[in-house]
Formats: sequence, C-alpha cells, structure tokens
Amino acid sequence: MDDSTTLIVLKKTKLGETDLIINGFSEQGFQIRAVAKGARKPGSKLGVHLELYSQTRVLVSKGRSLGIITEAQTVRSNESCRSDVLHSAGAAAIVELLDKISADSVADARLFALVCEALRSIGDVSDGSVRMITAAALLKIASQSGVRPSLKECVFCGDTMASQLRGNAQVAFSCSQGGVICDCCLSEIVEQGYTQIDPQLVEWAEVLITGRFKDLERHELLCNGEELCDDLGQILLEWTREWIRFHLVSRLKSLDFLLSFR
Ligand SMILES: [Zn+2]
Repeated sequence: MDDSTTLIVLKKTKLGETDLIINGFSEQGFQIRAVAKGARKPGSKLGVHLELYSQTRVLVSKGRSLGIITEAQTVRSNESCRSDVLHSAGAAAIVELLDKISADSVADARLFALVCEALRSIGDVSDGSVRMITAAALLKIASQSGVRPSLKECVFCGDTMASQLRGNAQVAFSCSQGGVICDCCLSEIVEQGYTQIDPQLVEWAEVLITGRFKDLERHELLCNGEELCDDLGQILLEWTREWIRFHLVSRLKSLDFLLSFR
C-alpha cells in the first residue's frame, strides 16, 4: 500500500544514472529514506518537487529495501534557503543536525513543526540575522531532544542566577554539568571543565530557546534593552556548537562552514 506524508527534504544522494535517494523528515516525526526514480533527468516532474530544505507532500510505495517516491508536490519551497551561500549554510546546519539525531531515534512529531518554522525563518531574514536564527534553531532542537542547558538556575543548587547574571562580569558555565554554576557552588565544588562566559551570552541563549522565530526576526526580543549584535551572534553560535558537540553530535560540517564564513 502507498503511504502519503509531508516531509522536509534533508539530503539528496545520487543513485545510478538518473535516480536520487531522498532522506526526509516526516510530519509524523521520523526519518524516511526513499528512492526518487528518474529525479535527475532534465525536466523530471519528481525532481523539481524534491529540492533541499523544501516541504513536500509525497506518495511512497514499498520497494525491495527502500521505499519508492511515486509522486511529489511542493508544499513550501523555502527557495530563499538555497539562494546564497550564507542562507544555505544556515539551513544546512539545521537539517544536518535533524538528519543525525533522527537517523535511528524514536519519532518526535514536534521536531517537524519546529524545523519547518526554522527553515521558513532562515529564508525570510537578511544576512545579519542568519547566525542568530541558526543558533536559535539548533538550541531549540537540542532542548526539544532533552538537552536544554540550565541558564537561569545554578545546575548544582538550583538557586536563581538573576543577580549574578546582572552583576557579574563573567559567570561559570559547564557543558558536562549542563548549565551555569553560582558563585557559592563554584567556591565549594571542585568542578573541572567549566568556562567563564559573558552573562549577556547566557541571557541571549535563553531568549533564543524560549523566543518565537517571528519575534526574533523582528528584533522584538531584547536583552537589557539591546538587540543582538552580529558579533555576539557569532559567539552564541560558537557556544551552541560546543553544546551540541558535547551532548548530541560530534561534528556538524555545515555549522563549521557557517562559522568560518565571513
Ligand atoms: Zn549553586
């Protein structure tokens, strides 16, 4: 029997002379790998509806090992995610993380809606906001997958960090422990492997995790009355890479590329 679903196109791999293997993330929240026969032939009706980062309605029939995509219809093209190197790099980092964490995990349909909105947002923003939206998307995916950093309360004692985030020049943060550490615990616990980071970075990371993409795009979310500047956006993205590297995926090539791109 044929199955009909909407998926986000994560990856396209050449197969034979004219075919493609499509890795897609379905609206039901799991990864699908299926063959699109003849999709690389010039003028192929399948191929134009299976662009990277697009949302596509597909009909999949059972094949011998992989399914066969027999019909495809674009729901949302996300063309702007493919329009230049910077936007492509942001979109690529998001789908690369989704591809890696969903390869053999339990289904999570909420990730579908989250990534659809993230890609829509990447496509809609100007160059200066691509790093911020990418960092927000990666942190939201990590949080959704159960590895949300503790940024408002000390990871050891649970006390609020509000006054230290406002008053200190730096706060201690540990990837391995999962969040910020208050001054009191830091003096008592022999904690290895923490780093001192800018409290502004901590506050912005929380805003990126909790804020809606629409509000981030409009720069309506502020920290201490200030918008996120591009330099801090870059630092936040580097910090996000460390968090993801420790907890989820050892390397995201697209994210390395985005961070090196100037
Ligand atoms: Zn503490």
